[in-house]
Amino acid sequence: MRKGAEVIMMHGAGGEVMGELLQTLTAFKHNNAGGIGLESLDDGSTFEIGGKIIVLTTDSHVIKPIFFPGGNIGRVAVSGTINDLAVMGARPVAMTCAMVIEEGFSIDDLEKIVASMDEALGESGASIITGDTKVVERGSLDGIVINTAGVGVVDDGSYLIRDKGLVPGDKIIVSGTLGDHGLAIITHREGFDLGDQLRSDVAPLYAMIAAAIRAAPKGTIHAMKDPTRGGFAACINEMARKAGVKVVVDQESMPIRENVAAAGGLLGIDPLQVANEGKCVIGVSAAAADAVLAALKKHPYGREAAIVGVVVDGIGVVMKTRIGGERFIEPPMGDPVPRVC
Ligand code: MG
Repeated sequence: MRKGAEVIMMHGAGGEVMGELLQTLTAFKHNNAGGIGLESLDDGSTFEIGGKIIVLTTDSHVIKPIFFPGGNIGRVAVSGTINDLAVMGARPVAMTCAMVIEEGFSIDDLEKIVASMDEALGESGASIITGDTKVVERGSLDGIVINTAGVGVVDDGSYLIRDKGLVPGDKIIVSGTLGDHGLAIITHREGFDLGDQLRSDVAPLYAMIAAAIRAAPKGTIHAMKDPTRGGFAACINEMARKAGVKVVVDQESMPIRENVAAAGGLLGIDPLQVANEGKCVIGVSAAAADAVLAALKKHPYGREAAIVGVVVDGIGVVMKTRIGGERFIEPPMGDPVPRVC
């Protein structure tokens, strides 16, 4: 980046602008431990121990507000890390938790946050086995920052899944409705009363994803990613770009809740560009798509899963609209809702 430049909020928004900052932040010469390294910018990285592929990922959480409809920062801190492991085909095993807390923070709230984290751990089978706590002066931090790191293992019944593996002919599946988290956060933060409460989708997806992997022949899931910051639009563009393919999605089949679409329309926010915290995007060979879809739909977090598109030769992401037109789904410059995870 140019000399003298400063960090701006868009640098943390998961879009094209963030990519510029990452060029600075990933300029390590030592960035690979013999597997997938930092340069891949995948959901996690890998190394091998005793012939087993180990997946490692980390995430800091600065979500505002700390409590919101459908969850709180603790549930996001565990689920986000679990999901980054799960979309790579790994079983989450152990996690770390580091908290930086502002003086004056409510102990009752901390208890609630820890209880939510524990609940999400219970759902995913992982444990937090080490942590760190720091307290800073009142005013030097907005409440609390939680960092988690997670270690997972690719079991024999599973296989390593990248975000760059799409091939022409694949079907694109989304595991449920899009835009719920981002629009729940922004409407709650800004105090909009839309009558019908929007709820975050935040959830740990390991059990659902493991079932989907087991449901189809080994290797037929070619790519997977969780559409967090920048939403489905950023996620699918990144997947298409990394694989050097074109994705054609069908607006009609895209699952978006009516109240999410309505809130998005009112606020001028595209539900496809805001974060999800309990969804995954899957590229699967056409022959295995129905089996994967059926397995997702059997799980409570995947009930509204849908096949939304196909992979073809070319570049970019195109959406066939309801009225029979076509438009590009552009990668957003950044998620329009800041501090969402
Ligand atoms: Mg991810």
